[in-house]
Amino acid sequence: MKADFVYDADRDVYVCPAGEDLTYRYTTEESGIPIRRYWINGCKTCPLRTNCTTGNERRISRWEREDPVDDMDSRLGRDPDYMSLRRCTVEHPFGTIKAWMGGTHFLTRKLKNVRSEMALNVLAYNIKRMVALLGVRGLMRAMQG
Ligand code: SF4
Repeated sequence: MKADFVYDADRDVYVCPAGEDLTYRYTTEESGIPIRRYWINGCKTCPLRTNCTTGNERRISRWEREDPVDDMDSRLGRDPDYMSLRRCTVEHPFGTIKAWMGGTHFLTRKLKNVRSEMALNVLAYNIKRMVALLGVRGLMRAMQG
């Protein structure tokens, strides 16, 4: 599994389970996404080879902008409760907004317009939520105070 390989950002290499460095070879493009390829030439004599690859060498692919994904993985690794917290807090509003929108596409096109559409949906959600929590009078008082 790729998870068994540790990316060393300072040296731009992957360290494999045998402790060897898989070095960067070239960048290719898959569906418009730049993908960096890493491998090592010493796999043929490695005792772990049968569990690692069926080819001549094990190759690892890395998205050119994978650093934020690595950061998120390491944050989640430090505190697995983040995912539970996210499920309890963030996913419910997004699910509700998606249901309000009919579970379909945005009505607008282009990022600027979609951002505005989403912002209006979030504003509506927040107002409805505040009304549910405080009531209309309570919300009016809070907005005046
Ligand atoms: S087969 Fe290659 S990549 Fe896999 S553990 Fe051995 S040296 Fe490392």
